[in-house]
Parts: sequence; C-alpha cells; structure tokens
Amino acid sequence: MMNIALFGPPGAGKGTQSERIINKYKLFYISTGDILRKEIADESKLGLEAKNIIASGGLVSDEIIVQIIEKTIKENQESKGFLFDGFPRTYIQAYILEGLMIKLNTSLNCLISLEVEEEESVTRLLERGKTSGRSDDNEEVIRNRLKEYYDKTLPVLQFYKDRGIYQAINGSNSIAEVNSDISVILQEELNKSLLNFVMFGYPGSGRGSQGLALAKKYGLEYVATGKMLDEEIKNNTEIGMQIQELYNNGQLVPDEIVVRLIEQKLENSKGVKGFIFKGFPRTLVQSYILDGLLKKHGSSIAEIIEIEVPTLELIKRLDARSKTDRCMPYDNSTTKIVQRLHEHEIKTAPVIEKYNQLHGVKKIDGMGTFEEVFERLSNEVEIGFKKI
Ligand code: AMP
Repeated sequence: MMNIALFGPPGAGKGTQSERIINKYKLFYISTGDILRKEIADESKLGLEAKNIIASGGLVSDEIIVQIIEKTIKENQESKGFLFDGFPRTYIQAYILEGLMIKLNTSLNCLISLEVEEEESVTRLLERGKTSGRSDDNEEVIRNRLKEYYDKTLPVLQFYKDRGIYQAINGSNSIAEVNSDISVILQEELNKSLLNFVMFGYPGSGRGSQGLALAKKYGLEYVATGKMLDEEIKNNTEIGMQIQELYNNGQLVPDEIVVRLIEQKLENSKGVKGFIFKGFPRTLVQSYILDGLLKKHGSSIAEIIEIEVPTLELIKRLDARSKTDRCMPYDNSTTKIVQRLHEHEIKTAPVIEKYNQLHGVKKIDGMGTFEEVFERLSNEVEIGFKKI
C-alpha cells in the first residue's frame, strides 16, 4: 500500500493535484472537506453538526473527522492506497491517522506539503469563489480559514518532520510543475516498495526459464543481462555495435556497459512490482555494483534464491539441450559445457557465499518437474510479498 497525505493551506492546489495523482497511482481519494460537504447536502445528522462551523471557516471537531475517515477507510480497504486531502489538520489528527494506519497494518509513506504564501492563497480562493459555489470561499471566511490553518494546522508539519516523512514542494509554481515535483516523490516511494530477487543457479539449473515464468506470474521485470546484450546487438544500437566489436576481438563485455543497460532497465520499467535478476551479479565486483544500482533507484535486494541441482544432472540437462533446437552456441560441445560450469564455480560461487553471509541465500531444490520447482519458487516469492 502507498498512503500519502497532501498538505497545505486552503487554496494551495491540493484538490487540483489530487485529481491528477489518484488516476495515475490508483489511490483512493479521501477529502474530508468533500465528504463533509456531501453530508451537508444530504442533510445528515453529521452534516447538520458541521454546517455552521464550515460556514464560519472553523475546524470541525476531531470526533466527527474520526467517524468519517474511519467509515471511508473501512469501505475501501482493498484499495492500493489512500490519498488524504485536508487531513490531518490538527496535531491530534496526526495521531489519529497513525492509529488508523496501524489498524490497517500499514503506514503513511509521506506527507507532501504544498507551500504557498498567505496572500497568494487569498487571491486564488477569491478567484475560485467566483465559480465554486462554496459558501466558505468569500474574503471574511477565507481569512478565518487561513487563521485556523496557521494556528492549528501548521504545527502538524513538525509531527511529520520528526517522523522524517515530510516533503515540501513550492506550491506557487504552475500546476504542471507542481504535478511533476509530486510525481518524483511518489515514484521514489514506489521504488522503496519494489520486491527485487536475485536468481542464482548453475547453468542448466533452470534459473532462466523459472525466472521468466516467475516474472510473468508476479508482475516482476525479468532482467537477464546476457539476453539484454544480445538484444542490443540485434537492434544494432550504439551499445550493440560496441558489444559486437568486443565479441569479434574475443574480449569480455566490460561492467560499464552492463551497468548502463541495467540503469536504463530500472529507469524505464514503470508500474512493475519488482525485478528478478538472472546472470547478474556474476562476480564479486558486480555484487557491489548491483547493491549500488538498486540503492540509487531507492530500492534494495529483497530475496536471494539459489536453485540447487547436482552436477551430474546439470551435465545431463545441458547435454540433452545441446541436441535440441534450444541449443545455445555456448553448450554445443562437452568442453564448452564443462567450461561454463567451471567458470560458475570459480567466479559466481564466491558471490553466492558473500550474499549468504550478508543477507542469507534461500536454497531451492531444483530437482523434479518444471512445475514442482516452480511451485517451490512461487512459495518463496509469496513469502517475500507478504514481508513488504
Ligand atoms: P477543504 O475542502 O479541505 O478546504 O475543507 C473545508 C472545510 O471543511 C474546512 O474549512 C473545515 O471547516 C472542514 N474540514 C475539512 N477537513 C477537516 C479536518 N480534517 N478537520 C477539521 N475540519 C475539517
């Protein structure tokens, strides 16, 4: 879940920005002001209680606010997250929100404050008053609403500064600029909740086909560096031509190129739930690189999985594959197969050992049918999802 509170004085643009955010990030919008106006229109008991207070520009009691927020959250528990507009508006309401989040087994990701000068707020609200039909958009009430804001609502910011989740934005910029600043913050928040897996296993262990199937099932992006290099060559990109030249000269592809490709992949994969890395990291150096790449992306490794298959079985599988049309150029002779297994043992096994000491590596039995192994891996991925 991603829960965001949009904060700022009346007229800061919270409503306008909310409209844009909720569609893009599929959040459920909770505007206490809108809900109260609806209660008033429906002439409910709650609406009648709130009517005069709103008309004078004062703040409705915390008791009323708790009731409407609790009801709205309860009715929409299945949503991907909430966007709060106009709440929390008092220091007490900040605690109330904490409690409500705990009840939902989640928390507020951040409070985004749209900062606007007092006189700018007044000008905007007077302009809005010409068409909004809101009885509280007239100068006398606007002044009172702003007074309430500076007296009772502004102290709420300290609460979130102390929590370390306060983000300020210049709300006097254009609608598009403010929207883009908010999007940067929200994207960073989304990146924090990515579930990233590293798939290890000897050649022939099934890590490729299993990784691909897992990615498809769980909405993860499959990152197979070997395949990415081939694609670049196939698409004749600038990087592809560099790689081809290295291949022609019998040289290894330097980490700089792989890093650039992974960076692009991380940047361009929007809306995914996480990444599955296969074939990277292969060396100790690359293991540090991956930690750095994910950190720069505001994310980290969630789980490291190794599919275990006995060596004799690996040789049997690779040999069998070499006799089918799935034969790779690198497994068309016994010498090459043994060479690849050896290479993995020398270079990649120490990486797995390092990860095992640092984060722990989950070993999965790779023997059995594809489906059997897939089920074991799926269980592991689901445990990972539950953890976040
Ligand atoms: P808004 O639409 O957010 O500008 O809210 C309009 C009016 O509704 C405010 O001036 C308050 O009287 C009332 N209101 C909205 N949200 C709250 C809240 N969280 N706490 C107290 N009063 C609120």
